[in-house]
Amino acid sequence: MIADVEQKSPSLNGRVDQQVAHPGQQSLFDVAVEQFNIAADVIDLEPGMRQILGSCQNEFTTNFPVKMDDGSIQVFTGHRVQHSRTPGPSKGGIRYHQNVTLEEVKALAMWMTWKCAVIGLPYGGGKGGVVVNPKEHSRAEIERLTRRFTTELMPIIGPERDIPAPDVNTNGQVMAWIVDTYAMHKGQAMPGIVTGKPLALGGSEGRTEATGRGCVFVVEEAAREMGMDLAGARVVVQGFGNVGAHAADLIDEMGAIVVAVSDSTAGIYNPNGLDLKAVHAHKAETGSVAGVPGTENITNAELLELPCDILIPSALEDQITSENATKIQARLIAEGANGPTSPDADDILHDRGIQLLPDILANAGGVTVSYFEWAQAMQGFPWTEDLVNRRLRAFMQKAYWTVRQASLDHDVTMRTGAMIGAVKRVADLTRIRGVYP
Ligand code: NAD
Repeated sequence: MIADVEQKSPSLNGRVDQQVAHPGQQSLFDVAVEQFNIAADVIDLEPGMRQILGSCQNEFTTNFPVKMDDGSIQVFTGHRVQHSRTPGPSKGGIRYHQNVTLEEVKALAMWMTWKCAVIGLPYGGGKGGVVVNPKEHSRAEIERLTRRFTTELMPIIGPERDIPAPDVNTNGQVMAWIVDTYAMHKGQAMPGIVTGKPLALGGSEGRTEATGRGCVFVVEEAAREMGMDLAGARVVVQGFGNVGAHAADLIDEMGAIVVAVSDSTAGIYNPNGLDLKAVHAHKAETGSVAGVPGTENITNAELLELPCDILIPSALEDQITSENATKIQARLIAEGANGPTSPDADDILHDRGIQLLPDILANAGGVTVSYFEWAQAMQGFPWTEDLVNRRLRAFMQKAYWTVRQASLDHDVTMRTGAMIGAVKRVADLTRIRGVYP
């Protein structure tokens, strides 16, 4: 079922008060609403609009059965949340993880609305998740789970309604099963139903590298403004996965010196610069970056505090906190990951004059090229990789300067500047559409 918009208790000024499931504990959605309220305060958003944008439009939960390989049945819980379908269809990934909760999915859906608005994409935000540890299941079980979850989602997803994409533990193959299941039900090919598809099924050139590439494009703008020459700039990257490894490769190609990278096992450091080809080869061979010849093994905590010009946290949330923010030596931080900096740390970094490019700007390259993929699917006409990358650069540059201008106009951080612009944009278009009926 699709839940009605949650009843929130509007307090003074229309701020949205969340009812916390566990008193005293802040859920991820509470954090998202707190960030929203800060931006809403700055632009003096009217009470009714605060209630609309501070709530998720649709929250869908399904408990669905899947046949296991041994013939037994297991029931899984999945969620799909559409924070807003006002700017256009909702857009956002589906994750498979044992710790997925509705509150987490709601927060991620709200952040997707702001991320799409920062770039100016004609989408609202959505997110989905299934409570499952995919490592405990065979490929055939994950396929059956995906096809059944897609079937449950049929009434609420669609190329012009809500468009999923890969997220934690989901990939092009999972998207291919969603495409196929959706097409089987509809009786027609509908490649615009998801993004992040394999190239053979209408995926976009450049999508894999898009988040790291977009991150480097905004770093380029910020560095130029700060008078920092990228050639020779020392860069530290936390996380050597999709985002981090591509960001490292691309900034290295621009002449920067990547001095440290890490993964979940360890970090490696060489003050004279890493040979990234050797790091890729070593990781492919051993499954870890640890032990690349000519590098010093360091912990992830040490990595964040290394002397460098640019720090790109691209692994997990909550890495830069009030504990270590005073020790960060970078001049510029670009959040490749979602939520790597705590609100306390934000203030400390700001007071120390460290420029921070927030996640809803710095990692928005992925959803931007997802939008390009969707546009190509709707046109039935693929673009070249060069065109994708040129358009990505144009979108990211424009977003950087829009956010920068908002932060200067209101004398706030880039994060609040990004939120202000995003909330204002969605509020404006909601006002223009009006409240139905
Ligand atoms: P990934 O799984 O490909 O890579 C994650 C990397 O982080 C891996 O190298 C992993 O070993 C490392 N890691 C895990 N735990 C760690 C730890 N404790 N310390 C240091 N490193 C650790 O994931 P990804 O797609 O690169 O996503 C990384 C972050 O970027 C996530 O926050 C994700 O939400 C965000 N993001 C990804 C995309 C995208 O297009 N892939 C888009 C927007 C945001």
